[in-house]
Amino acid sequence: MIAYIAEIIPISFSDYPKEPCCVIFFSGCNFDCGYCQNWKIKKQSEEHAIDIEKIKEIISKNNLITACKISGGEPLLQLEALLEIGNFVKSLGLKFGIDTNGSMPNALKKAISLLDLISIDIKAPLKMERYAKITGLSNPPLSSIIESLKIAIQSNAYLDVRIVVIPGFNDSIEDVKSIVKVLKELGYENRSSKSSFTLMEFVPENAHREEFRKLSNTSLKNLMDLASSIELSNVKIYHRAFPITL
Ligand code: SF4
Repeated sequence: MIAYIAEIIPISFSDYPKEPCCVIFFSGCNFDCGYCQNWKIKKQSEEHAIDIEKIKEIISKNNLITACKISGGEPLLQLEALLEIGNFVKSLGLKFGIDTNGSMPNALKKAISLLDLISIDIKAPLKMERYAKITGLSNPPLSSIIESLKIAIQSNAYLDVRIVVIPGFNDSIEDVKSIVKVLKELGYENRSSKSSFTLMEFVPENAHREEFRKLSNTSLKNLMDLASSIELSNVKIYHRAFPITL
């Protein structure tokens, strides 16, 4: 089977909670976020085409990892490849996780039994106009994102809900509280498996659109203020290789 994969990071200590993992970047995405750092791999191209057997070989030779995460792009766009790699990873006794923008709940349902980690990026308060401004979509799939959150909340996987905090776009206390309110309404606090809520620094230098490249990065104080206003356990801050758990 052929998959479209732009890059593999053999080992990362920051992409999977408490596990050294390899990260596989699937190319292709159905969003067009202005702040995207991975925009160069948003389109699948033939130069990214690779036989999955080669990927399996790379994973199986890596003795330093205890987990594997698929990132992107949007990994669920290549569901068959994701399932094939996920089944292989689990057969090796490694943990398996994904990053997702939450737009593909039906694909998420098909992968859920393999997943030990689901990292869902929430871009803004779940309102059309707010989401459209960041994702570049005229009709952002909000009901699908809410459905994915529900599936993840009801699953046994570790769930990390992440927000890249972008000055002037989604950085007010009201914005973050409105996202937390939706999570609470969906049962986020009742889940038995572990969860975290991560506020991430926006990095303008590599942003996709110029409008975003002109912004400042998120200050640590902004992230700290937001974190202290949220009534959730296990709130994390991620600021340039400086993760903090409050
Ligand atoms: S930030 Fe994520 S969801 Fe948005 S375009 Fe980039 S890869 Fe896609």
